[in-house]
Amino acid sequence: MQNYFSKSAEETLNDFKVTKEGLSDNQFKSNLETYGHNELSEKKKATVLQVFLSQFKDLLVCILIVAAIISMATGNVESTLVIFAVIILNAILGTVQHFKAEQSLDSLKALSSPTTKVFRNGIKLEVNSKDVVPGDILVLESGDLVVADGRIIENYSLQVNESSLTGESESVNKTIETIKEEEIALGDQKNMVFSGSLVTYGRALVIITGTGMSTELGKIATLMDQTQEKKTPLQANLDDFSKKLAMAILAICILVFILSIYREVPILDSLMFAVALAVAAIPEALSSIVTIVLAVGTQKMAKEHAIIKKLKAVEGLGSVSIICSDKTGTLTQNKMTVNKVYVDNKLIDGTTLNLENSVENYLLKSAILCNDSTSKDGKEIGDPTEVALVNLSHKFTIDELSVRNDFKRLAELPFDSDRKLMSTLHHFDDKYLIFTKGAFDVLLDRIKFIKTSEGVRKISYEDKQNIINTNKQLSQNGLRVLAFAYKEVAEPTELTLEDEHNYTFIGLISMIDPPREESAIAVADCITAGIKPIMITGDHKITASAIAKQIGILRDGDRAIEGLELDKMSDEELNANIEFISVYARVSPEHKIRIVRTWQEKGQVVAMTGDGVNDAPALKQADIGIAMGITGTEVSKDAASVILTDDNFATIVKAVANGRNIYNNIKNAIKFLLSGNASGIISVLYASLMALPMIFAPVHLLFINLLTDSLPAIAIGTERSRKDLLKDKPRNTNASILSKDFILEIAVEGFIIAIFTIIAFTIGLKYDNAIGSTMAFSTLCLARLFHGFNCRGNRSIFKLGLFTNRYSWMAFGTGVLFLNLVLFVPFLKKLFEVATLNSYQIGMIYLLAFIPTVIIQIIKIIQDLIGGNKETSSPQDIKIEEDKRNIA
Ligand code: ATP
Repeated sequence: MQNYFSKSAEETLNDFKVTKEGLSDNQFKSNLETYGHNELSEKKKATVLQVFLSQFKDLLVCILIVAAIISMATGNVESTLVIFAVIILNAILGTVQHFKAEQSLDSLKALSSPTTKVFRNGIKLEVNSKDVVPGDILVLESGDLVVADGRIIENYSLQVNESSLTGESESVNKTIETIKEEEIALGDQKNMVFSGSLVTYGRALVIITGTGMSTELGKIATLMDQTQEKKTPLQANLDDFSKKLAMAILAICILVFILSIYREVPILDSLMFAVALAVAAIPEALSSIVTIVLAVGTQKMAKEHAIIKKLKAVEGLGSVSIICSDKTGTLTQNKMTVNKVYVDNKLIDGTTLNLENSVENYLLKSAILCNDSTSKDGKEIGDPTEVALVNLSHKFTIDELSVRNDFKRLAELPFDSDRKLMSTLHHFDDKYLIFTKGAFDVLLDRIKFIKTSEGVRKISYEDKQNIINTNKQLSQNGLRVLAFAYKEVAEPTELTLEDEHNYTFIGLISMIDPPREESAIAVADCITAGIKPIMITGDHKITASAIAKQIGILRDGDRAIEGLELDKMSDEELNANIEFISVYARVSPEHKIRIVRTWQEKGQVVAMTGDGVNDAPALKQADIGIAMGITGTEVSKDAASVILTDDNFATIVKAVANGRNIYNNIKNAIKFLLSGNASGIISVLYASLMALPMIFAPVHLLFINLLTDSLPAIAIGTERSRKDLLKDKPRNTNASILSKDFILEIAVEGFIIAIFTIIAFTIGLKYDNAIGSTMAFSTLCLARLFHGFNCRGNRSIFKLGLFTNRYSWMAFGTGVLFLNLVLFVPFLKKLFEVATLNSYQIGMIYLLAFIPTVIIQIIKIIQDLIGGNKETSSPQDIKIEEDKRNIA
């Protein structure tokens, strides 16, 4: 392995036979062939066979195998065959589910994988991080993730956080100087950058020297298992519940076994029955249904511009009660256009600048020079604030690139949202001038002189008052105001923060960035949904308040405060006042963490947006960290659990609605599975306690549990959002999904179905035992299929729309078809131990199976009518509806 830190930038370029223009297409191809993709080796994915075999590790399958052995022992060959068929079918289904879920997670991962900028053939390209090769010229800017190891060949104050490699939490300053020593620690290789680190400041050009497993990260990385995701809290909660339930069921099974023995049923038959009951009652499908519903839900959300990086965010989204959002680009369009400018003591339209006037000329030139963006043929590259300035220069047919060529940049201090300033040094007007632009209030304090058409003079109190008043006037109209100033230095040097003082004021440029059309509606939706929307912005308080008022975030009685005011507040004060604060202006990323924490201490679930490199800690602290897909830095995307591909606030609100819907669907699917199982257990317990013949043959229970149960549950999981979903209040995260009310509902519904199963059994017993159990089995199976419709939502089927979920009809149709095959095909009849029924008995089965659904629907209709249903509007919602109208 070469030590590139001891080679000069030129030597390294020569080693890879490349210039700063980057690799040619052929070089790239050949390097890709030699070195491969820039990826860390992943743990090998399990093969289909491995996944298939792993299905047999399940507790349920073990029980089934025991059942098959007992069947064999009792000479019941058909049953044994059925059980084995069921085991294999179950394993196939499990395997398919595994790969489906993995596929959908992989496609989400591909959507959120990092990109990086490289020069190839002299052109700057954005490429996927896995597609960079040694020899590529990498462009690093503040907020980027370093995706490979490289030697710095151009450096503009680059600072990098290498904590993932060195453990050092402070950022390190990088340099281009060659290092003489032979052996030095990673942290001292100041002219190198390493994969896995974050660019926190500045810019640099880097030639890539190592990719994939030959990076320093690759050397220390243990094989990464990227396919497995940790269980979500809901999944963990359900797993825990399932285990406890399994214990309770086991106790019931032992009771049933003892009762059977007591009633002198042969031991093996009793055992077989107890085992089948366990299979029927253990809700083994719960966890996989949750995974499927989550996976399907996240696919839908990705189509609606919200990429979910961590499955647990879906659950969190459903319970969000606070959304803290950036202003620029998220609530506004981020399409800036220069409006008024204040220069030479007058406020004029930007397009009417007189370039003969030396101050106005300085203003436009500084706007072009202290600027990294370009705009050509409608293609705008760079920060929209800066693009607006370039577009202004085009109004005067001035080409930004030729001005930048005439007055080359000799040094710079890049913009960062903490400092809120940007400075560049140029040889201009035969002098060395630092041009600085930035936040009005930050720059104003550093101004000592003012440039007017009469010359430069000391700035007076009056001058300052005029500037302050103008800023106020412009900001009140929601305009963003940038201040421009310059300062002369004796000779060209590297710039330091000390240089950003003692300025000469040039002027103010204001720009308009209208709110997105959908923002006001989304804000109103938030309020209806019991979610408090909060604006957190680096912009000026007056500008921020004006926009916040327009879109309904800042309402009567709400406050807007600045970062400085926040600093002065004690934790107690903030805690007491936070509910009234809707706008935080001039904040730096550190403030965001404090705001999130304070809300969290109040038990709220906070979603927070962020785009900058310094936003990462706040995004991690928030319950749901949301990064901007278009304008966000790679660092922020890395830290977030959700990425918005359209940077739009309205998308967050949509994602919250989707999160709530997915949670409800999961809850309904659980209700379906558990109430169905409960009905089976109650029926069996009844028969055992009443010393009646066996109500179900073991194969009946297996049939219901494994063949007709999962489809309706999945169909319930695909239920679309109700229109009024956002009228519900946010879910309390402390409340378990399995609340007392919920378990009571499950028990009541299970009980109703069980009653009619028992009635069918009683009718059948009048003919003989076989007809009794066939009728009980068919009624239970059908009633559960009907029950699939009841579990689509809390409201009656008429409110939900009878035909709005075609999957539930497909699931129902398939189940009914299976049942009829078993009832009527002679070979299957024998296999599944069903007796021949006459048309009266068949009619009774359908009638008795349908009645529970009629009863449950009547209860729902009554609840809908009296408003007892939790999903109908409550008086509080109606008040908020009025608010919504006021905002409109
Ligand atoms: P938000 O925090 O809502 O996303 P923002 O763009 O206002 O939006 P920052 O990017 O942190 O937040 O900008 C803070 C302030 O810094 C702005 O109000 C502006 O005055 C100034 N500013 C923004 N961009 C630049 C820039 N490219 N150069 C110099 N100053 C800038």
